[in-house]
Amino acid sequence: MPKTEILGILYENTTIGEAARGLMALAALHEARYVVTANAEIAESCHKDSALSEAVSSADFIAPDGAGVVLASRILGRPLKERVAGYDLACALLPQIAEAKMSVYLLGAGEGVAEKAARSMTERYPGLVVAGLHHGFFTDGTAIEAEINAAAPDFLFVALGSPKQEFWMHAHRGKLRCGLMMGLGGSIDVFAGVAKRAPDFFIRLNLEWFYRLLRQPSRLGRMMKLPKYVLRAIWARIFHNERNGIHEG
Ligand code: UDP
Repeated sequence: MPKTEILGILYENTTIGEAARGLMALAALHEARYVVTANAEIAESCHKDSALSEAVSSADFIAPDGAGVVLASRILGRPLKERVAGYDLACALLPQIAEAKMSVYLLGAGEGVAEKAARSMTERYPGLVVAGLHHGFFTDGTAIEAEINAAAPDFLFVALGSPKQEFWMHAHRGKLRCGLMMGLGGSIDVFAGVAKRAPDFFIRLNLEWFYRLLRQPSRLGRMMKLPKYVLRAIWARIFHNERNGIHEG
């Protein structure tokens, strides 16, 4: 798949449908590879934190999450096809996972939430096999690894929030018995009905970040990274005349 570099991160330039098809094939290899969905906030953190940058850039698939990344791609003159948010990607994958009789393991969110998410997923996608689940506030990492290895899921949804999930997947890359790990932030909360995705109106206007800010004003500090990121794109475009970041994959 073609990749496009945006401010130091090499994104897949793909639609959600194409991404889901590619990831089904990647999962079938069963090599415990991993997917990062990187928004502007993660990209800004990578700019400052080389360990996180290493964990993100080592991913086998980096999806452009968030309106900020798509905006930056336009500012830089190499527009990405579309925003590929983790939750949307999971929604595109789950019917295919069910159809292919593959399995999913849910790791993350508070106690009892993954159970609710599993119930709602299996209702929504009949035939889906949930091979196991665990909340994301564990202290004994070894026990979790043993549990995942025993279940050997095709997909491992890692919803520990960022940057925890990126570090976790990087540390476990190639080491677990699983097909593909996917860092999915707060998606288990959304599947469980504990958190709500923004209404379509906000998503269509690229204002999901604003909706999340209204619901959780405590996110303001984190969200200040978004304008910084956009300014960095403008700076790169004007002062470095940066245009050449397209890689044929
Ligand atoms: N979480 C977790 N373990 C932790 C910290 C957080 O499982 O040690 C979960 C948390 O319960 C929530 C998700 O990670 O379900 C983070 O959600 P958020 O919306 O903040 O994700 P992001 O904005 O990073 O996508």
